[in-house]
Order: sequence, then structure tokens, then C-alpha cells
Amino acid sequence: TGLPARFDTVIHRRKTRSVRVGDVWIGSDHPVVVQSMINEDTLDVEGASAGIRRLQEAGCEIVRLTVPSLAHAKAVAEIRRLVEKSGPPVPLVADVHHNGMKIALEVANHVDKVRINPGLFVFDKPDPNRTEFSPAESAAIAERISETFEPLVSLLKQQDKALRIGVNHGSLAERMLFNYGDTPLGMVESALEFIRICDRLDFHNIIISMKASRAPVMLAAYRLMAHRMDEEGFHYPLHLGVTEAGDGDYGRIKSTAGIATLLADGLGDTIRVSLTEAPEKEIPVCYGILQALGLRKTMVEYVACPSCGRTLFNLEEVLHKVRAATDHLTGLDIAVMGCIVNGPGEMADADYGYVGKTPGTISLYRGREEIGRVPEAEGVEALIALIKADGRWVEPQ
Ligand code: SF4
Repeated sequence: TGLPARFDTVIHRRKTRSVRVGDVWIGSDHPVVVQSMINEDTLDVEGASAGIRRLQEAGCEIVRLTVPSLAHAKAVAEIRRLVEKSGPPVPLVADVHHNGMKIALEVANHVDKVRINPGLFVFDKPDPNRTEFSPAESAAIAERISETFEPLVSLLKQQDKALRIGVNHGSLAERMLFNYGDTPLGMVESALEFIRICDRLDFHNIIISMKASRAPVMLAAYRLMAHRMDEEGFHYPLHLGVTEAGDGDYGRIKSTAGIATLLADGLGDTIRVSLTEAPEKEIPVCYGILQALGLRKTMVEYVACPSCGRTLFNLEEVLHKVRAATDHLTGLDIAVMGCIVNGPGEMADADYGYVGKTPGTISLYRGREEIGRVPEAEGVEALIALIKADGRWVEPQ
């Protein structure tokens, strides 16, 4: 068309390296990966293993668990053993925070990726009386960070494992707050400091996150991070998320506002929707976001009109019936429309259409072709028969 790529109807993802986490690849050459985190205590080895398995069964592709102490790090070895005994492999990620060097070194042996938080990895309690941060003090802290961090980088490199440099807006280091304020720039500089150390050690299995609980803050931070990384030649994948998004409809909307906006810009290679609910509930939201943007197709896409005064049948009820009969199929688009007011094009080129024709009669469509009219009471059965006749039906498990 001669128009810039941002006017295309497909998303062009920012080109990144590929980073392997266990048997899952993350990066622009691979589908956007869905991940989550268990909420069991890591010391509860059986509970944590069951939580990991539950998440995997819900479709979660990488599972994170928290590792706040050396005892937790050792428990991860047990969890890994139990998980491996109970089913297919699942890549595990250890979340390490305050002064976590020893913990990270231990747990790196038992997981596929370690997540560190640059604001807490070398953590000094903030001094409330501080009025300045001298360049000499900053340099000394940078030196200490480098010395502390290098053994972990070397170990991950040696074991060919991955690292997430996971910045959180709410836990920036005191030095960063002094130099850049509580800003997306401070978040980006925090990550870049750790990225540069990895780069110096020729370690590149890195994924970056810039989470914040407010969508506009995380949007700015991820955009700036991608821009700065591309400027400096660091093409690392991004892990997207809105932290502390809450629960229910608004938690989902808030997460989607942040995650989908970036994905639509081509940013993001793995996502986590953080809900204050059972972690399994996050997974359909992740897949829904990816499907809505055309990034992954893992379920039937239903195209349905909102209904209006022209609607010729109980649209809500019929959509519910059609969904109940077909939602185990993947890769199909099915339209349910109250009337054909604007022609079959309104069905967004669905594979099949169920459309109100006259009171008591519906029309079935294959693509834009009208296949036939049937009494409304037989509509759902006729739709299934059509899908079967086309060889696109599978029996529900
Ligand atoms: Fe109304 Fe027909 Fe549009 Fe549905 S498709 S909203 S019934 S005009």
C-alpha cells in the first residue's frame, strides 16, 4: 500500500533475540509466551508442585515461584523433582529479591530462569535523612552491584539458563530515585545498569520487564526501554505485565489496557496478567488478549452483533448455545448475527455464520456464501452438521 507498517492489519513485532527458558523460546521469532506465578509457599513442596501442575494444565507455559530465602531455594530442588515425576516438563522461574545473591546462586541450579529486581538485588535501607547522593557514592554502589551480580551471570551463562531483569516501579533503588526520580527513566536506567554488566560478560539470555501498577507508567517505561535498548544494540525480549492489577472485571481491563497496548505496538514477547485471584484465572485472560490481537489463535473466535430492535431471535441465548456446542474447536471463526442488515461482510469474514433471516428462520453461511435456511429451532444442530460436513469438526474430549 505504500503506507507505513503501523497501518498494516497485522502486528509487526519488535525484532529481538531468542531466549530459551527450559524448552520454551521467548522472542520475536516465537509466539508470545503465557506465564504466571503460583501463590503457594515455596516451602510447601507438595502444595507448590500441585500449584505448578494446575497452572500448566490451564495452559500456562512458564511458571514462576518466589524464593525469599536459602531454605526456599533448596525447597525448589524438591519441587522440581516432584514436578518432573508427575507429568510433562514445565519451565520454572525463581523470583529473587532483597540482597538475593546467595539465594540466586543456589536456586539457579534448580530452575530455568532467575528473576532479579535491580532495585533490591543489592539493597541498602534508604536513609530518610539523606539530602544528596554524591558521584563517588554512586560509583561505589555501582561497583558493589557489579561485583555481587557477576557470579550469578557467570553461573547462568555456564548452565545456559536465562535471567529476567525485572524492574518494578514501586521498588527502585534509592540511588536511582535520587538521580532520576520515581520515573520511567529511572526504571530504564536501573535495568540498563544490569544489562551492561551482562553484556560485558558476554551473557545474552536476558528478558526485561518494567512493571508498574499504573498502566500509563508501565506503557512509558516499556516504550522507553525498547527505544533505549534498540539504540544501544540490546535486542532483548520484553516480559509484559501490570502489577497489582486487582481482581474481577477491572483487574482484567487494567491488565489488558497495559499489555494489549504494547503488544499492538509490536512490543512484548511474554505476558503475565497479575490478578488477585487463583493464578489459573489469569491464563484465559492472557490467551484472550493474544487472540484478540491476532497474535495467537487458541480458541474459536466468536463474532456476534450486540443485538438491537432488528434482531430476529434471542441472540444471547443462541450465542450461548453455539458457544457451548463449539468452544472445544480451535482455529474457527463463527459469527452469530441478529440479521443480515449490512450483508455477509459484517460477519468479519467468519468461517461460518448463523444469521437471522425472517422471524423463526435463520440462514447458515460458509464464509460469504449462503448455504441454506433452516427453522431457528434447528439452527445450532444445522450449524454443527455443516461444520461436520466440511470435515472441521472434532468430538469434544
Ligand atoms: Fe441489529 Fe442486525 Fe446489527 Fe445485529 S446485525 S445489531 S440485529 S442491525
